[in-house]
Amino acid sequence: MKCSVCSSEITENYCSKCGQYYKDQRINFINFLGVLFDSIFSLEKSFFQNIKIGLSRPKTLTLNYWKGFRKFYYSPGKFFTIASLFLVLHYSIANDFLGIIIISNVSSQFIVLLTNIVLLTFSSFLLYKQFKKNVFEHLVLNIYNVSLWIIVFFPISLILSLVINNRKIEQYFYIPYHIMVIIWNSKAFELTKLKRILFVVINLLIVYGTLFLAYTLFETLNK
Ligand SMILES: [Zn+2]
Repeated sequence: MKCSVCSSEITENYCSKCGQYYKDQRINFINFLGVLFDSIFSLEKSFFQNIKIGLSRPKTLTLNYWKGFRKFYYSPGKFFTIASLFLVLHYSIANDFLGIIIISNVSSQFIVLLTNIVLLTFSSFLLYKQFKKNVFEHLVLNIYNVSLWIIVFFPISLILSLVINNRKIEQYFYIPYHIMVIIWNSKAFELTKLKRILFVVINLLIVYGTLFLAYTLFETLNK
């Protein structure tokens, strides 16, 4: 069989030149269902498998992407899209995420997502400078981990909104959220146990120091 994209001869299920998948079969009822749920039962690992790998083997997704491998695990972009969908769903049920409301009528949930990614990328880039990863590689690392933990904290935040409904208390859950993202970021680097703890603490101080400064500045300007 010749590849429909690049005309190379296909010997197995994948074209060795362009990577297109090929299976010699007509569309029938069973695989038509697969077409409809393509994003869940696709050739890539499923959503739940990606989450499971992201949680149980923290550096796997990022390192694989850093090394240039694609289309087996979800890309950072796919994680980001899924996390965004979870936030949209969250805001349609309760208008905050972990007690943070942003008064804006244009996709306020994205501000939470983007602020976290930018702030954490900036801090991990500074902190792990000795590992010589550029800012875009850090961006990939942080998109993976910020999105992964948004998905994990989605049910927690939802339960908090419905049960406690106290934004002040809910906001404290941002601390474990940030701690998890920061620990997961550190796993992408080879560190001794003691050094890892030190790096995680410094990373937390950078993030909360920056947030505190931004908050103080905002308050002063608004007086
Ligand atoms: Zn091809």
